Amino acid sequence: MARVALVTGGTRGIGAAISIALKDAGYTVAASYGGNDEAASKFKDENGIAVYKWDVGDFEACKAGIAQVEGELGPVDVLVNNAGITRDGTLHRMSVENWRAVMSTNLDSLFNMTRNVIEGMRGRNYGRIISISSINGQKGQLGQANYSAAKAGVFGFTKAVAQENAFKGITVNAVAPGYIGTEMVRAVPEEILNTKILPLIPVGRLGEPEEIARCVVFLAAEDSGFITGATLSANGGQYMA
Ligand code: NDP
Repeated sequence: MARVALVTGGTRGIGAAISIALKDAGYTVAASYGGNDEAASKFKDENGIAVYKWDVGDFEACKAGIAQVEGELGPVDVLVNNAGITRDGTLHRMSVENWRAVMSTNLDSLFNMTRNVIEGMRGRNYGRIISISSINGQKGQLGQANYSAAKAGVFGFTKAVAQENAFKGITVNAVAPGYIGTEMVRAVPEEILNTKILPLIPVGRLGEPEEIARCVVFLAAEDSGFITGATLSANGGQYMA
């Protein structure tokens, strides 16, 4: 039977590309989303992938959502923590709300989701947990103290949980994308994109969501079992950590 993969924020942007690539690789895929029903329903109709709505920042909602997915599709063997938001602003102007919203969706979500699948994975002696961080969690980015902190936290979480579960057949890895041409990046004013961002990327272009999806499919594979606690950077050469 096909393994089940659950992708948070799997209905739009990078997450949608990940959901589709995992489906193409033979997984039964569940794509969760936060609130954009229209995008989710369009994604479901176009791709034949089951969609589920809950807030990844809410522990009980994650628990209930995962129980629903597992009841309908089977145990989750691959978890992709992809959902994320930005609320940019320099620290001296940042509101408590914008700090907390970014920490909740980008970092609390890793605990909320992983905590609710890890016991099942340990019981089955198999699992793949892949979390989407960011180049800005590796190098820091002005105007993104909240986002850079949350995305840096992904690496610590990944390494700790990788060590705890290595003997249980569970790998835990991070993917760190550079600038990818999704709505999140296209929202950056064109002049800033052309003068401040593209000149920093040696390959001279934004990445494609499918290029991040390839990284996830690779790390999710059964024969990638020796790779754990790792970060796979895909950033066009912009940052070589
Ligand atoms: P998008 O804004 O295109 O999509 C975000 C997805 O996350 C949507 O499906 C959205 O659901 C979901 N989501 C947002 N908040 C919540 C929530 N509270 N609960 C559940 N789901 C939620 O983002 P991208 O595709 O651009 O980014 C995907 C990931 O990649 C993020 O973690 C981002 O930080 C990271 N990343 C992106 C880069 C880029 O260049 N785009 C670069 C580096 C990292 P809904 O549709 O309902 O809003």
